[in-house]
Amino acid sequence: MSPVVPKRCRISRRNKTQREGSYMPELPEAEKARRTLERLCVGLRIAHVEDGDEWVCRPHEPGELDSALRGSIVTAAGRHGKFLWLETDSGHELGLHLGMGGSIRSAPKPSPRSWDRIAIVFDDGSRVALRDKRRLSRAHLGAGIDKLGPDALTITPRAFRARVGAGRTPIKARLLDQSVLAGVGNLLADEALFDAMINPRQPAGTLSTDALDQLRSSLRVALREALTPKGGSGRGRFARARRGRQCPRCSCELERATVGGRTTYWCPNEQVITETS
Ligand SMILES: [Zn+2]
Repeated sequence: MSPVVPKRCRISRRNKTQREGSYMPELPEAEKARRTLERLCVGLRIAHVEDGDEWVCRPHEPGELDSALRGSIVTAAGRHGKFLWLETDSGHELGLHLGMGGSIRSAPKPSPRSWDRIAIVFDDGSRVALRDKRRLSRAHLGAGIDKLGPDALTITPRAFRARVGAGRTPIKARLLDQSVLAGVGNLLADEALFDAMINPRQPAGTLSTDALDQLRSSLRVALREALTPKGGSGRGRFARARRGRQCPRCSCELERATVGGRTTYWCPNEQVITETS
């Protein structure tokens, strides 16, 4: 009897976390992981790859990543949106995605609970692992970024206006669509929309050039703040205020609804839907 109840509890907590977006890595967490990969891996020769997790390394068979990468030197660590990859001098790329809570770390010894979903052992004896308790991360050959839009940190104002400011979709959903713009998750989207004073349900194609430029600027500020050593998605002014449901600018009660499939907060006083913004 007892195993059933804890299992239900786990699923319930996970769904709540997904709705609230508390642990969903966004671009800043991926960029911090890329810097860790760069620091720990670039310039080193791969002795072997521990790729035995068939689920995380799907569709590859155990040993497939190892035989492709063994003996090559890591030349760079890349990131686009929330996707990461290592480049090697053999031409092969190892694509990595952190899933909901994975992290890149120096791990001289394997995780005692087998949470290292993939690990690279280098010629110098060092070992770098993608540690992920929940097994939602991914590892595969190739960067896997073909279907992504431009990166949120580097997109030009012109491309942002053309891609984000189009269609009848609510602007919040448009920001979350990784094929439109890569790297923005729930918390950063709410933070930027609040800063730009745009209602998350405003149809994307009705936003003015000025509103779109402001939104891009607000997004970049939120991203840069999240990239500071103490920053992170969900630690901005508005994300913190979500918990108390109170607007940090005018103190009114925040509105809440599901937009783009995600729990969304906004200030009903300042983020008003306009006819043609
Ligand atoms: Zn307000």
